Amino acid sequence: MAARARAKANGGRGRQKGFTLVEVIVVLVILAVLAALLIPSMVGWIDKAHKRACEASKASLARDLQAEEIYQTEGGGKLTTSQLQELAQASEFYCKQGGVYHVLRNGAEEIQIVCPLHDSAYTFDMSEVIRDLVANPGSEELKAMFQSFTGAGKYIDSTSKQGTNREKLEGALKEAGFDLQTQGIQSWSFQGMGNGQFLLYWTTEDLVDYPVGSRVKVMRYNSLRDTYTAGYITVREAQLEGKGEYYPVLGRGDASWSEFAGIPQSEADKQQFDTIYQVFGQMPAGAN
Ligand SMILES: [Zn+2]
Repeated sequence: MAARARAKANGGRGRQKGFTLVEVIVVLVILAVLAALLIPSMVGWIDKAHKRACEASKASLARDLQAEEIYQTEGGGKLTTSQLQELAQASEFYCKQGGVYHVLRNGAEEIQIVCPLHDSAYTFDMSEVIRDLVANPGSEELKAMFQSFTGAGKYIDSTSKQGTNREKLEGALKEAGFDLQTQGIQSWSFQGMGNGQFLLYWTTEDLVDYPVGSRVKVMRYNSLRDTYTAGYITVREAQLEGKGEYYPVLGRGDASWSEFAGIPQSEADKQQFDTIYQVFGQMPAGAN
C-alpha cells in the first residue's frame, strides 16, 4: 500500500518539482516571523555599536585635547572652551553619525566631550519643564515672577550678573529635576511676548566665547504656537540697570533670529522636541 502510494505520488511527471502555493506561503510566514523577531534586536545592536564607537571617539578626543592643552600652554594654563571646540572640530575623532561634539569643562578642570546624538544626558525637554513651571509654579513667588516676565519686552537672561530672577528660575528648574549645568546648557534667555506667552532660547554654547554681533546656535520654544525650532541668534549686549556693566545676551526680536536652513524643519517636525533636538545636534556651533 505504501509502495503504491509512492508510485502514485511519483507517477505524475513533474508534479513534485515546484512548490505549492501553500508551501510558499508557509515559508514566507516563517520568514516574516523571523524578521519580526530579529530586526528589532539587530537595530538595537547597531545602535549600541554606534554608541560604543562614539564613546571611544569621545574618550580619544578628550585625551587628545588634554595633551594639546599641555603642549600649547607648556603645561602652565588652560585653553578657552572655544579654542578647544575649534581643535575638536578639526580632530580625526568625531561622531560617525554626525553628532557635533560639544566640549565642556567639568567643574572647570577635566575636559568633557558631549555628543548630542548619543549622550542620554541630553535627552531632556527644557521647554516642557518651563511650560509646566509657568502653568503650575508651585509657589506664589514663582507665580508672580512668571506673571511679570511673560509681559511684552520682559527678559530673564542666564548671563545677567546679579539676577535674582535668574537664580529663582534656575532653582525652580533644578527642583523640577533639571540641573542646567549637568545638562550642558550654558546660556538661555526667557523672553516675554505679552498675555502670558513667552519665547525660550537656550544653547549648549557659552556666550562668553562669542563676540557681540556673532551668531550662535540655539533652540527656541514658542509657547504661543507650542513649537520648537533650531536656529541661530545674534549675540547682543545688555547693561545692568543703573550700572555701567555690560554682559552678553541672546538677541531680542525677530531680526536677531533665523531658522537653520541646512536641515528642513517642517511644521510637523516642530511639534516634536526630539526631532528638532536632532537638528540642533547636527548644526555647526556658530554661523556668519
Ligand atoms: Zn555620537
